[in-house]
Amino acid sequence: MGCADRCHFIPPYLLRHLAAAGPAQVSAGSRSTLLVDDVLRERRLERPPVRTAVAGAGRFVVHSADNTEDLPGRPVRFDGDAPSGDERVDDAYGGTAATLDMFEEVFGRASVDGAGSAVSVTVHYGTAYVNAFWDGAQLVFGDGDGVVFGPFTRPIDVLAHEFTHGVTQFSAGLTYRGQSGALNESVSDVFASLVKQRVAGETADAADWLIGAGIFLPHVQGRALRSMKEPGTAYDDPRLGTDPQVGSMAAYVETTDDNGGVHINSGIPNRAFHLTATAIGGHSWEAPGRIWYDTLTGGQIQPSANFEAFATATIQSASRLYGAGSAEADAVRAAWSTVGVGRAPRRDLAASGVAASEPSGASVSASPVSRVSVRCTGGFAGLSRSASMDVRSDPAGPAVAALLSRIDYTSLIGWTPMPDRLVYTVEVDDERFDVPEQAMPPELSEVVRLVLGDQID
Ligand SMILES: [Zn+2]
Repeated sequence: MGCADRCHFIPPYLLRHLAAAGPAQVSAGSRSTLLVDDVLRERRLERPPVRTAVAGAGRFVVHSADNTEDLPGRPVRFDGDAPSGDERVDDAYGGTAATLDMFEEVFGRASVDGAGSAVSVTVHYGTAYVNAFWDGAQLVFGDGDGVVFGPFTRPIDVLAHEFTHGVTQFSAGLTYRGQSGALNESVSDVFASLVKQRVAGETADAADWLIGAGIFLPHVQGRALRSMKEPGTAYDDPRLGTDPQVGSMAAYVETTDDNGGVHINSGIPNRAFHLTATAIGGHSWEAPGRIWYDTLTGGQIQPSANFEAFATATIQSASRLYGAGSAEADAVRAAWSTVGVGRAPRRDLAASGVAASEPSGASVSASPVSRVSVRCTGGFAGLSRSASMDVRSDPAGPAVAALLSRIDYTSLIGWTPMPDRLVYTVEVDDERFDVPEQAMPPELSEVVRLVLGDQID
C-alpha cells in the first residue's frame, strides 16, 4: 500500500528536458541523481523501511547526510532545540513543525501514521541532488543543483507534499497509478498548500495556490512547479519545457508514462479543491480541508478509487459534516462539475493504467537485438528523459545485448507503483515494458545507465 519505498519530488518529464537542454552542470546533476537512485534502490533491499524510533527525538529530528547518501545521517536538531545555524536544517525543522502542527491542531492527527511516531528528516542528501523523497520511513532533501533548482528544503510545501504521501500511505492507501495515482498526487498538493496557507495566515482568495514556489533559481522562467488554480501555467522555460498539467476532464491525458500521468492529471482534482475552497471562502484548511481530510482518512474510498469515486466521497463528507443542502456541499458538487468529473460516463481510465504495467513477454532476449530505447518518467516535478541506442553499432552495444540476455523478465511482473518514483519504459526492438526503479533488476539498471548515459555525455 502507498509509498513503501522512497518518494521522489521531481517528476521525470522535467528531468528529461533538463538533461536534454540544460547546461552541463544540470546534466551532470540530473545524471548524478539517477545514479544515486539506482544505488538507493539496491540499498533498499538491504535496509527495509523501518519506523523511526529516535530516542529523545520528541515529535521529530532533522539529520544531515553531509552530502553523502547515507541515511538517516547525523542528528543535528531535535524537536525543541534552538536553531542550528544551518539554513537547510532550520528550514526543514520549521517545515516539519508546521506540517505536524497543522495535522495535529486542525485534523487531530498525530504524526504521519496517526499514532505519533517520531518523524525523521534528512537534509544535505547527496551531491547536487535535485529531488526530495519519502522512503516509507523518512523525509529526505537534496540541496539542488545550484543552476536551475535551489535547495528542496526552501519551499515549505515541498516538505508538506512528501509528508502527505506518508499520511496517504497510512490512510486511504491510494494506488499510485492512473486516476487513483493522480488523486494520491493531488492530495499531497492539497495538504501542502494548506500548510503553506496556514503558515501565511491566508484566505483562499489571497493564496497563490502554487506548489514548489521558490524552488527555481531566479533566472528560471517559472513561478513554481504546479498551479492548483491554473494547472499548466506554472512554468515555461527553455530548459524545463512547458508545464504539462491539465485542469479538466476534457483535457485528460492518456499516457503510460509517469504511472499513467499521475503528475499531469492531478491538476484536475487540484483545481476541484481550489474551486471548492474559493467558493466556500475563508481559510482553506477549515471546511474545505476538513472535507478532504475526512474523505482521505474516513475509510469510504478504496485504494483503487477513480476521480468519480473520490468526488462522490467528498460530496458525502461535505453532506455529513455540514448538511446535504449546505453551501459547503454545494461548493464541492459544483467544483467537480466544473472540472468535468461526474458529468458524463467515461471508460475506466484507472483500469487501463493498471494494464500498462504488464511486461510484454519473456522472449525479448531470444533474438539478436538491434535497438534499445529508454524513457524515464514519473517523479515529483515531471522530469523525464529518453534516449536510444543502436546496439549493433554502439561501442556499448555488446554489453547491452549481454545484459538483456541475462534479465529474468518474469521478475518484472506484478510491481506496485510508488509516489514520485521514477518509471522506466524500455523498448527492445518491438517489445516494450514499463518498470519502476524499485523493481529494476541490476542488469536492467545497467542497460538504462548505458543507454541514457550515451545521450547525456
Ligand atoms: Zn508526489
